[in-house]
Amino acid sequence: MPSRNKPMSTIANNLSDVLSTLPEGVELVAVSKYHPVEELQEAYDAGQRVFGESIVQELRLKQAQMPDDVQWHFIGHLQTNKVKYIVPYVSLVHAVDSYKLLCEINRQALRCNRVIDCLLQLHVALEKTKFGFTVEECRSMLAAGEWRKLSGVRLCGVMCMASNTDDEERVRQDFRSANTFFHEIKSDYFADNSSFCIRSYGMSHDYLIAVAEGSNLVRIGTTIFGSRRY
Ligand SMILES: *Cc1c(COP(=O)(O)O)cnc(C)c1O
Repeated sequence: MPSRNKPMSTIANNLSDVLSTLPEGVELVAVSKYHPVEELQEAYDAGQRVFGESIVQELRLKQAQMPDDVQWHFIGHLQTNKVKYIVPYVSLVHAVDSYKLLCEINRQALRCNRVIDCLLQLHVALEKTKFGFTVEECRSMLAAGEWRKLSGVRLCGVMCMASNTDDEERVRQDFRSANTFFHEIKSDYFADNSSFCIRSYGMSHDYLIAVAEGSNLVRIGTTIFGSRRY
């Protein structure tokens, strides 16, 4: 808790505003990419422990400077040749978008005696440029069954980004597609696995829709830290 005499920082205020809008059972990833470590520390001092980064080099620098009890989520596109740098400390990889990437996370995890929690990134948006499995690709990857042998990774759920549009109905529909698919694969492959429970959807501009459509992990940057300085 901030001390009584010290005014709450803007970041602490923003954080508490965001948290007050989240229903019970919805967790917050504070997306701190492109923000300096002093700002992460402000959020940390206000009680936030889960931070999301999307660039490997930036995450490495910040991880070395922040307290050890921070849980680092990697939320961006991850190149296979960079997996080794984050596997020693990352707590959740949100955007697994190919079987090849899953295999490499597994390989590096086994080398450090870890089991890495991973989410399958689903492509549900209109844009062609966004990474992720289509539901068909994801279905066939799971049906092939090879993933069951990967003891260094644990599949914990799905992640998606909605279309980049002002059309709220389209955004809602994207989250709904992801959520329907989550329930399909939950019942087909993970019914007995209580760890497979994460739905990572929703960013600053659309997280309330995401939560209404079943998200239980929101990734929020701008609303907490302000706009990014690239
Ligand atoms: C940057 C980013 C966010 C946060 O976006 P804001 O609009 O700043 O809340 C969420 N998810 C992913 C995958 C991101 O890259």
